[in-house]
Amino acid sequence: MLNFDDDRLMLKTNYPTVGSARVRIEDKQVINGKADVNQLVPFKYHWAWDKYLAACANHWMPQEISMARDIAQWKGKDLSAEERRVVERNLGFFVTADSLAANNIVLGTYRHITAPECRQFLLRQAFEEAIHTHAYQYIVESLGLDEGEIFNMYHEIPSICDKDAFLLPFIETLTDPMFRTGQVENDQKLLQSIIIFACLMEGLFFYVGFVQILALGRQNKMPGAAEQYQYILRDESMHCNFGIDMINAIKEENPHLWTKAFTDEIKSLFTQAVELECRYAEDTMGRGILGLNAGLLKQYLRFIANRRLQQIGLDPLFPGAANPFPWMAEMIDLKKEKNFFESRVTEYQTGGALSWD
Ligand code: FE
Repeated sequence: MLNFDDDRLMLKTNYPTVGSARVRIEDKQVINGKADVNQLVPFKYHWAWDKYLAACANHWMPQEISMARDIAQWKGKDLSAEERRVVERNLGFFVTADSLAANNIVLGTYRHITAPECRQFLLRQAFEEAIHTHAYQYIVESLGLDEGEIFNMYHEIPSICDKDAFLLPFIETLTDPMFRTGQVENDQKLLQSIIIFACLMEGLFFYVGFVQILALGRQNKMPGAAEQYQYILRDESMHCNFGIDMINAIKEENPHLWTKAFTDEIKSLFTQAVELECRYAEDTMGRGILGLNAGLLKQYLRFIANRRLQQIGLDPLFPGAANPFPWMAEMIDLKKEKNFFESRVTEYQTGGALSWD
């Protein structure tokens, strides 16, 4: 039976009463904090607030991007059979991936994070995951793909299924209604799940897919889909960087969690994830498409895995792995104004446009 007389929903310790003490910065903690989570200021985690502001400044909606040329190419003879397979298997992973990410945040991570600046970013992030799911659905619908086939690939295509199966136990840990933090073992489970999500889900499992569609876009193929993926990549690199900042803040506040056994386990999970993503690269690429093959993607994955490990203070697992796609860095740094307004086709309704009739 559920016991509501606990701090599971962060209510008991934070319930406002007349005369309760004011929030002090020193009481704020990313996890297991004692300060009222409803009170955003005084700010302590400026990096989280700054990322929230940056994410809002990057707002976009899928239907603002024209899919007309993509539709013409998909119906015509512009794409090879291999390129079509890449597009379909790519969408087969992504159409459900961002729903997993959203559920993980809303039903899991959010509850366990006690810094209101971080919660504010997570709320924005959850909405962005919804926009990404919307974008993939919009591409599938625009191209007239078999929705049943694409949306069921995560049950039916082993290389996609295996990636999701790897992630699910970590999502289940955080979304278990009885899970709570406050002792070492569970705090480590929380930290591990955040690492899996930021560094391996958003930081690694998305990258074969991003490279594939953006490489097609560089050849003027599927330009609308490629533009959507550019915006998604920019959002996701922000999610990944926010996650890494949060991991490092939890580490700093709770150094006792960062044991040798803990980091050994993390490294082993990185190795497994790189293997799974390499298998997905092989499966989606077939014989390869112009300038891109499974071998180059594997090299890129090792390069990214090293970078993620270093970002959380661990040694690289693949010494000497170089980046075969330096152009990906430019894609991440995309400035919205650069080409956004040229390709904009619809206006989303803003507050000023509301009608009360
Ligand atoms: Fe994300």
